[in-house]
Amino acid sequence: MTYFSKPSDVKFTRTKAIFRLATFVFAALFWFQVQAEPRVTTSHPEDSLSWIQRGFKNPDVKTFRSTSISDLAAQRPDHFTHELTPTLVLFRHSGWSELHVGRAMERVGVIYAQCGIKIEFSKIHIVDPPFGLKSVVIDKPYAGLDVKIAEAIPTLPKPIFFFVEKSMNGYTAWATPRFHTPPGPFQDGAWMTASILRPAYWPSFKDKSYSVEAHELAHVLGNRNHVPDDVRNILGGTMGTGNDQITSEQCEAFRNFDLVKEIVPEITVVGSRTLAPLSDSH
Ligand SMILES: [Zn+2]
Repeated sequence: MTYFSKPSDVKFTRTKAIFRLATFVFAALFWFQVQAEPRVTTSHPEDSLSWIQRGFKNPDVKTFRSTSISDLAAQRPDHFTHELTPTLVLFRHSGWSELHVGRAMERVGVIYAQCGIKIEFSKIHIVDPPFGLKSVVIDKPYAGLDVKIAEAIPTLPKPIFFFVEKSMNGYTAWATPRFHTPPGPFQDGAWMTASILRPAYWPSFKDKSYSVEAHELAHVLGNRNHVPDDVRNILGGTMGTGNDQITSEQCEAFRNFDLVKEIVPEITVVGSRTLAPLSDSH
């Protein structure tokens, strides 16, 4: 009897194993999804004042904390050598929600973690569209309302992501790196339209690992244009060549960019004795 039962046992065990594995993968993915939601940690009424002084209406400034990056930093304290704190400006009635922006920044954080760059915190400034507009539609990217807005807002830490509704010329997102944009408030920015939230923006040939926010940030931090068309990485310039991969040379350039700060290791103190660094001069 054992002779006959063996093959079906093997089959049963394999099916069971596959089922268990699938359950585990599903549970892990679900857990990751749940864990990867960003957290809003603090509100900053003092920051709202500077918007009001500049004529903007109903500003609401909060801090986003990336759950993925907080977890990674807790598990592997030595993983990060550098950090970046971008500013996020979200215009109401643009099609972007706080959650959209937070999820996008979770992805950005995970992608830049491969360079040891920690993007854990960012302030999000939620504000009504300026100049009496119903929503922010950029007429001429690089030469229209985007420049006007950058010059009108309060001085904020860069790089700045602007989340707007759309552009009139079909641009879905654009960056203003130094090689391309003269010094001033418009420089070191990234403009994201809500067009990228539409399924139509994600045809099947596009790499699903691609993040438009991470790509625009790469233009700014790398101060560089696209890589040649056949090269696939974060700065892939055509549909389908952009993905979430950053070369070691690109990482190096990002880490050396002046807005990216080196993390100074904490000095371990035991009692009153400082363990590092030690001076040998006495
Ligand atoms: Zn680009």
